[in-house]
Amino acid sequence: MNVKITTIPGDGIGPEIVREAVKVLNKVGEVFGHEFTFEEVLMGGCSIDAYGVPLTDETIEKCKAAQAVLMGSIGGKVGQSKWYELPPEKRPEAGLLKLRKSLGLFCNLRPAHLYPELKKACPLRESIAEQGFDVMMVRELTGGLYFGARKTEIVDGEEVAIDTLEYHDYEIRRIAKKAFEIAMKRGRKLTSVDKANVLDSSRLWRKIFAEVSADYPEVQLENALVDSTAMQLVRNPGQFDVVATENMFGDILSDEMAEIAGSLGMLPSASLREDSFGLYEPSGGSAPDIAGMNIANPLATILSAAMLLRYSLNLTDEADAIENAVSSALAQGFRTGDIMDEDENGLTRLHTDEMGDKIAELIRK
Ligand code: NAD
Repeated sequence: MNVKITTIPGDGIGPEIVREAVKVLNKVGEVFGHEFTFEEVLMGGCSIDAYGVPLTDETIEKCKAAQAVLMGSIGGKVGQSKWYELPPEKRPEAGLLKLRKSLGLFCNLRPAHLYPELKKACPLRESIAEQGFDVMMVRELTGGLYFGARKTEIVDGEEVAIDTLEYHDYEIRRIAKKAFEIAMKRGRKLTSVDKANVLDSSRLWRKIFAEVSADYPEVQLENALVDSTAMQLVRNPGQFDVVATENMFGDILSDEMAEIAGSLGMLPSASLREDSFGLYEPSGGSAPDIAGMNIANPLATILSAAMLLRYSLNLTDEADAIENAVSSALAQGFRTGDIMDEDENGLTRLHTDEMGDKIAELIRK
């Protein structure tokens, strides 16, 4: 297979971690007989420095022309970087929001997997961490409260702020289909999370999920309320496989899941649209505090590359090969600083590029 990928290294640690993911993809290409072609574009602070704007039309076009986009992260030290003296619409993050919108990326996937070797970093009870968990959050990304009409006005001399939570049938149906398809590729259990005891938008959400489930009889669908799910995620995350929810609930629950999974440096993510195109990036930010030091953990970006293979290219064996290589490296005691145990007993500390080399070395057919 010949695959065209656009890369957005971005700011801070972005270039260091994307470089390692590209290294691993090239090794996958070598082992499995694929050719990956990469084209690098600027977005975020580096684009502001070069072109005066965080995202250019040319970058959007180059992303659209690829089969998938692999991104590092963007932004500088909040409150300190010169980019934050600009008005909000000209700052680095504005580029990412515009890019997601221009590419029509409505489905955000965030897996939270607790690696047995990293269970000490899990803040949950030891017995829960011992059992482990592997949850996939499917979050609707372009509708709901964050995109509805809003206004602040004076009513009877008092300030009133209004946000609108609006969902259309088609928006729920397309995310439901994605969630069922992902559940089919995993444990075939889907928990749809809403607040149907209060919200009309949630009642529509629940109705459409029930309708779509008729096309996926192999998937076990459960409905759950968001408040109870927030509780269950810390009580027993192992009960969940795929969790699908609307934009704001997903924003909150996916951060909760990131926390219980331990380290930010291990968490990949994907943003998809209806066809196979997607943008893949680590869940963490640009970590300006450690940029340029060759100590960032590249594993979240390398695991994002595995998601790219799985969800945009349907290369399941190749995606498994990357995930297995990451598990093997951890099992053999290789760590970057952020996932090191305090006593470092029997572990080997690696730099960013050394971890990339190690994962590439462990790629097997
Ligand atoms: P951050 O995620 O960049 O860093 C938080 C902490 O985690 C830091 O101590 C950092 O060193 C550490 N960390 C993060 N990723 C790591 C990795 N791969 N390896 C080792 N340690 C890692 O969050 P922040 O400091 O709040 O934000 C920094 C910048 O990143 C801001 O400009 C913010 O807006 C931006 N940001 C960008 C994205 C994105 O590009 N999608 C997402 C979140 C934050």
